[in-house]
Amino acid sequence: MPNKKRIYYFDHAATTYVDLQVKKVMEPFWCTKFANPSALYASALEVNGVLNDARRSVAQILQALPDNIIFTGGGTESDNLAVLGIARKHKLHGRHIITTKIEHHAVLHSVEQLKNEGFEVTYLEPDSQGFISPKRVFAAIRTNTILVSIMYANNEIGTVEPIADVGKEILKYRKINNTIYPYFHTDACQAAGVLELSVEKLHVDLMTLNGSKIYGPKGVGVLYKRRGAEIQPLIFGGGQEMNLRSGTENIPGIVGLAKALELAQENRLDENMRLVDLRNYFWEQVYKKIEKVRLNGPDLGNESVRLPNNLNFSILDIEGEALLLYLDAKGICCSTGSACTSTSLEPSHVLLACGLPYEYAHGSLRFTLGHCNTKADIDYVMKYLPGIVKRLREISPINLQFDPKKNTHAKIHQR
Ligand SMILES: *Cc1c(COP(=O)(O)O)cnc(C)c1O
Repeated sequence: MPNKKRIYYFDHAATTYVDLQVKKVMEPFWCTKFANPSALYASALEVNGVLNDARRSVAQILQALPDNIIFTGGGTESDNLAVLGIARKHKLHGRHIITTKIEHHAVLHSVEQLKNEGFEVTYLEPDSQGFISPKRVFAAIRTNTILVSIMYANNEIGTVEPIADVGKEILKYRKINNTIYPYFHTDACQAAGVLELSVEKLHVDLMTLNGSKIYGPKGVGVLYKRRGAEIQPLIFGGGQEMNLRSGTENIPGIVGLAKALELAQENRLDENMRLVDLRNYFWEQVYKKIEKVRLNGPDLGNESVRLPNNLNFSILDIEGEALLLYLDAKGICCSTGSACTSTSLEPSHVLLACGLPYEYAHGSLRFTLGHCNTKADIDYVMKYLPGIVKRLREISPINLQFDPKKNTHAKIHQR
């Protein structure tokens, strides 16, 4: 029997459902128009034409050229291709990379890999709201720096980084020093549905996008790569995607991603306003009805520097995981920066990098709103959340210790 319980989904930064219009344009490419676009017969040429149309459409939104667009197997792969691809191609020029402490693990673990290969990495610290200073980027560049990788918008706390300003600082460095280095990559997975994506205005050389956060399919991504920014591929084979990403193209995925990006960009301004109103209403209610809460990330009110759908806050004296379980029992889906929900032992690296004490990071909740959320959904959450918090606070912290084998928890409670 299918589970008929209504789900209140507030985890759109983790992934979105596929928009029905997107699903519809993908449909013909599973069973009917399935030919390999590299083949030479008419049905293959037709599919190849569809692939080129998708490439042109994505390029247009990015104000780029079609041959700047590399389709990949998702945001993680695009990040890996950008970071490892630039580093390995240009290592004879230098082995220094600049990134931040609040990147997605797709970037952080890629630069960790590069450290094993003999590269040096500078991790820029954000301020308490998650912002990276463009001037500090400039100051961190050395003569052997080949890559700067800074995300466009943070997936946990919604901070929108000043990418265009960072881009200008990097251009300035290159001009003063008469060099083509460093290259500038941004991970725009969280930004794709809500922000301006013109690579001209952002002054980026490489940009990562994916389908799964913008009501498109999972397992498909884009790496924008400026002409002239050479990279070494990660995947070798038949030479697809201009020799930079071999393997038969995921045509349904690519068609779906292109459509999702078109829809997102078409509707973003109206939808952003709606989400800001909802999100601010949500926080007002939380602040009014629950004691000892703290907003994480940029202040609400300056909407251009925080993703419109992101609400991240900490509830003191509470374990995020316990809250999540109680909310789940009511059909509410959200996430936490607490350690024990994930396989990692540390709480959110983003919250810690912003200077949040462990106790706060452990009590953090992230709600990310989406197209289907309404005020009634928020009222539903607020019907239960204050009561759950009250009950959990009545339980002594000793009883809140989970699996004693997870020693981080024991450590934290002992402090
Ligand atoms: C989701 C996400 C990724 C990973 O994308 P996948 O398509 O899941 O591989 C990378 N970076 C950011 C900022 C993300 O939000």
